[in-house]
Amino acid sequence: MDWDNLSDSFSGLGNQAGRFFKGVFGSANERAVKTLNPLIKATNDLESWAEGLSHEECLAKTEEMRKAIQAGETTLDDCLPEAFALVREASKRVLGMRHYDVQLVGGIVMHRGSIAEMMTGEGKTLVATLPLYLNALTGKPCFLITVNDYLARRDCAWMAPIFEYLGLTVGAIQSNMSPWDRQPIYACDIVYGTNNEFGFDYLRDNMKTRVEEQVQKELYFAIVDEVDSILIDEARTPLIISGPAEESSDKYKLADQIACSLVKDEHFEVKEKERSAHLLEAGIIEAEKLVGVDSFYTPGNEEWPHFIENALRAHNLYTKDKEYVVEDRDKGPEVIIVDEFTGRKMEGRRWSDGLHQAVEVSEGLTPRQENQTLATITYQNYFRMFEKLSGMTGTAITEAGEFHKIYSLDVVSIPTNLPIARDDANDLVYRTEREKWNAISDEIGRMNERGQPVLVGTTSVEKSEHLSGLLKERGIEHAVLNAKIGHWEREANIVALAGDRSSVTVATNMAGRGTDIKLGGNFEYRLEKALKEKGLEIGNEEQLEEIAKIREEVRAQCEADERDVLELGGLYVLGTERHESRRIDNQLRGRAGRQGNVGVSRFFLSLEDDLMRIFYRDWVSKMMERLGMTEGQEIESGMVTRAIAKAQKKVEDRNFEIRKSLLEYDEVMDQQRKEIYGTRQDVLEAVETKDKVLMMIERAVMRAIAANLEDPEGLNGWMGRTFAIQLEKDVAVAATEPKGSPDGVLKAIEELYEQRESAVTEELMRRMEQYVLLNAIDSRWKDHLKAIDALKAGIGLRGYGQVDPKMEYKKEGFELFSKLYEAIEDEVASLVLRIRAKGEEDGDAEAPQARVSAGAEAAARAASQQTQQPQLPPAQVTPIGKRMAARFQAEFERTGELPLPKPPSAEEQKKRQSALRSLQLQQQAELRAKQQAEAEERQRKAQEEAAMKEKLDGIGRNDPCPCGSGKKYKKCHGQGKP
Ligand code: ADP
Ligand code: MG
Repeated sequence: MDWDNLSDSFSGLGNQAGRFFKGVFGSANERAVKTLNPLIKATNDLESWAEGLSHEECLAKTEEMRKAIQAGETTLDDCLPEAFALVREASKRVLGMRHYDVQLVGGIVMHRGSIAEMMTGEGKTLVATLPLYLNALTGKPCFLITVNDYLARRDCAWMAPIFEYLGLTVGAIQSNMSPWDRQPIYACDIVYGTNNEFGFDYLRDNMKTRVEEQVQKELYFAIVDEVDSILIDEARTPLIISGPAEESSDKYKLADQIACSLVKDEHFEVKEKERSAHLLEAGIIEAEKLVGVDSFYTPGNEEWPHFIENALRAHNLYTKDKEYVVEDRDKGPEVIIVDEFTGRKMEGRRWSDGLHQAVEVSEGLTPRQENQTLATITYQNYFRMFEKLSGMTGTAITEAGEFHKIYSLDVVSIPTNLPIARDDANDLVYRTEREKWNAISDEIGRMNERGQPVLVGTTSVEKSEHLSGLLKERGIEHAVLNAKIGHWEREANIVALAGDRSSVTVATNMAGRGTDIKLGGNFEYRLEKALKEKGLEIGNEEQLEEIAKIREEVRAQCEADERDVLELGGLYVLGTERHESRRIDNQLRGRAGRQGNVGVSRFFLSLEDDLMRIFYRDWVSKMMERLGMTEGQEIESGMVTRAIAKAQKKVEDRNFEIRKSLLEYDEVMDQQRKEIYGTRQDVLEAVETKDKVLMMIERAVMRAIAANLEDPEGLNGWMGRTFAIQLEKDVAVAATEPKGSPDGVLKAIEELYEQRESAVTEELMRRMEQYVLLNAIDSRWKDHLKAIDALKAGIGLRGYGQVDPKMEYKKEGFELFSKLYEAIEDEVASLVLRIRAKGEEDGDAEAPQARVSAGAEAAARAASQQTQQPQLPPAQVTPIGKRMAARFQAEFERTGELPLPKPPSAEEQKKRQSALRSLQLQQQAELRAKQQAEAEERQRKAQEEAAMKEKLDGIGRNDPCPCGSGKKYKKCHGQGKP
C-alpha cells in the first residue's frame, strides 16, 4: 500500500486493543504518525536514486555518511531518508523484500527512541534493519535484543545480508559462547543477542581485571524486540551472578581451636576500641605450626591469618547475650546480632567477611555455608543505562504508562500494512470449568473436521495437558507446546506449522513467540521433508534439476493450501481462559489475521475461572441463580467480559506496584553499583590512579588521627602497622592535639610515597597501584554485596508496625556503603607502599629499574618483569597486607607476569579527568542524604513511640499487641514489661 492510504488503514486498529486505545489516545497517536509523513515522502522520493546505485556506490555512500556523521558535519536525522532508502534498496536486492511504508514509520519511531507497536506478522524483524543501520553509522555499537538464543541466531542470519551488502558487520551472541568468542562479535557494528546475555555480559565485564577482556565498550543504542516480554514480564526478577562463598567449615573449626590455644599479648594483641585482633610475629609462627604449614605466605595458605584473626575476635571481643544472642529459629539454633545502641535483635542480619561464621563456631554451631551474590542488576536499571533505547512488539499500549514512567519510552501504535480482517468474536461464558472444557473440545472437533487450523491458548502447563487428554479421548490429532519442551528451535518449528490445514496446536500463551504462523503450511519445512523422502540433498550438483522441480511442486501445493485455509476462514485462535494481563490475551489474538488475512479469535470462559473466582465470588453465584443456567448452556455476556477486564486491570496494577517496589529497593544498589563500577573502570583504564591512591591514603590517615585524638602513641602504632614507619614525636603530638594539624603526617607519607615511586619507577608504581586498588575494590565490594543481601533479608522481617522497610533499607544501605569505602581506603593505604620488587633491599636502596637504560624499552620491560618478582614486605605488616602480597606473588609465579593491566592510551586517560572530583561530590551528596534520612527517621520514631504509648495505655498482657503483628502483647512489644 502507499502512503496516501495510510491514514485509512487506521481502521486496522479495529481490534480490541486498538479500539480501547483509539478511545483514549487515538487521535494523538494518529497525529504523531502523520507528522512523519514528510520523512516517508522524502525516503520514497529517493527510491529511484537508490535503484540507480551500483553495489560499489552503495558501499561508498555508507562510508561517506559514516565519515560525515563521525566528523559531526551532519546528523543522523539529516541522513535518515538516504539511509532508509539505501536499506530498502539493499533488502530488495538481497532478500527480495521491499520495506512497506508502515515499516518505514516503525523504523523512524524506533530511531527516535520510542516503542513501535506493530502487529504480529507485520515484519518487525525487517523494520529493525532501518534504525540499526542508521545508528550504526555513528561507529558506536547497536544492539538488537531478542527473547531467546534461537531468535537471536535466526534474525541475525536472516538480516545479515542487508547489513553486509551495505558494508556493516553483524553478529549474534549465544549463551554457550566463551568470552573469547564474544569479543569479535561485540566488535561488530550490530549485535544480536538475548536480554540475559547482554545483562550478564555487562556484569561480567565489571568483574574482569583487564580492559582488553571487556566486551561491552559502550551502552549506546538498543532495540528490544518483544519489548513487553522483556521489560515488563521478565523485569520482576533481577539478574544475579552468584557463587559459593569460598570458606570451608573445616577452616573455621581449626581456626577456632588455634585461637583458643594462642596466648594474648604473646601471640596476639586485641584492640578494644577498633574491635580488632592482630597476630603478632610469634603468634604467626605458632599458628603456622598448629595449622601444619611452612608458611602462611605461600599460595593456598594466605587466607589463614584472616580466619584466625576472626576467631580471635569472636573469642575476645564478642560476648554472648551482649553483642549477640543464640536462639532457636526454623533451622535450629542461630547467632542473632543485637544492635549495640537499641538492644534490638537484628533478625536475619549477618556480620560480614567471615566473622559471623567464626562466632557461630565459637558457640559450637556449624558455620552456615552460603551462596553469595557476586554481581546483580535489574533489567530496568541495565536498560536505562543505554543512551538511546527503543523497542517493538505487537502489544504494548496497555502498558504504555509503565513504559513511560520507568523507561521514559513512549508507545506509538503503527497502522497495519493491510486492514485487519480478523473476526474477534464475543466471549462465550459457561457455568463450570467442566462444561467449558467440553464445549472447547467440541468446537475444536468441529473445526478439525472442516479443516480449519486451530491454535489454542492456555494459561498453564497443567491446563494444556488437561486439554490434550480430552482431545486424545476424542481421537483428535494435535501438537502440544509448553514450557516443558524447553527447546526454542523445535518450539518455533511446531508454531510454524500451526497454520496448516486441519492442524490443532495447544500452546501455553508465551510459547513460540517471535515465530510467525503462515497459513497453508511452511514452505521451507515441507520442502525439506519432500526432499528427504526422495533422498535428495540441497547442494548436490547432480540433483539440481530434480530439486528445482520439487521446489516448484511444493510451492504450488503451499499456495493452494493457503487459498484453501483462507476460504475456510483462516486461523482460528481459541482462548481457554483470560490471562491476568490483557496484553497477553491480545498477543494470543494477534496470532490470527496477519498481513490482512482472514481469521477468527474467540475466548471460552467459565464462572469458575481463576479471575472470576478471585474477584467476583459472590457476584458469580448470584448471577448463576438469576440466569438459571442449565448444564452445558452458554451465555454471550458482555457483563462478564467487562467484569473480567476490570479484574485484569486490578491485577495489572498490582503487578506494576510489585515491579515499582523492586525498582525502588534497587535504587540504593544502583547508585552504589554505578559508583563502584565507575571507579573500578577508571582504575582498569589507569585514570589518575596516583591521585586516587593519595586521596585514599589521606582519608585513611585522617580517620586514624581522629581515632587517636590526644594519643600520639596510638597514632604511631597505626603508622607502624600500616606503613612500617614511625613519626617524629612532635609530628605525632601536633597531629593528635585537639586543634592540631595533620600536615606533618601527610608530608611524611608523601615523602615515603615519592621514595617508593622513584625506587620502583613510575610505570611499575602505577601498575602496582592498579593491582592493589582493583583487588581492594573487588574483595570489599563482594563483602558489601553479602552484607546488602543480609540487610535485605533482615529488613523484610522488620516490616511490622509503622517501620517503613524501604526507608530503613535506604538508611542502612548508605551506612554500609560508607563503611565499604573506608575499608577500601584502609586496605589500599596499608598495601600500596609495601609491596616490594625482587632485588630491592629494604629501605632506600637503588632500585634495579634505575639501572635500565632508557633506550631499550621493550627489553627493559621484559627484564623488569623478570627481576621484579614481588617479595613479602619485611617488617611487621598487617596480615591482610601479607595475604595480598602472597597473592600477588602467586599470580606472578603462575603466569610469569605481573598481574597488572596494561597502561591505557593517552586518549583513554583523558576520558575521565573529572572522576575524582565527581567522586568527592557524590560522597558529599550521599552524606547529606544520609543525614537527612537520619533526621527524618528520628522524627518518625518519636512519633511512632508517642502513638505506641497512647495505644499501650491500659493494655493487658494477653491482649493482642497494638502493633498489628497478631502476637500477644507480652510476646511482642510488651516483652519484658510488667
Ligand atoms: P513480526 O516479528 O512482526 O511478527 P516477522 O518479522 O517475523 O514479523 O515477519 C513476518 C513475515 O513477514 C516474514 O515471513 C517476512 O518474510 C514477511 N515480511 C515482512 N516484511 C515484508 C516485506 N516488506 N515484504 C514481504 N514480506 C515481508
Ligand atoms: Mg518478531
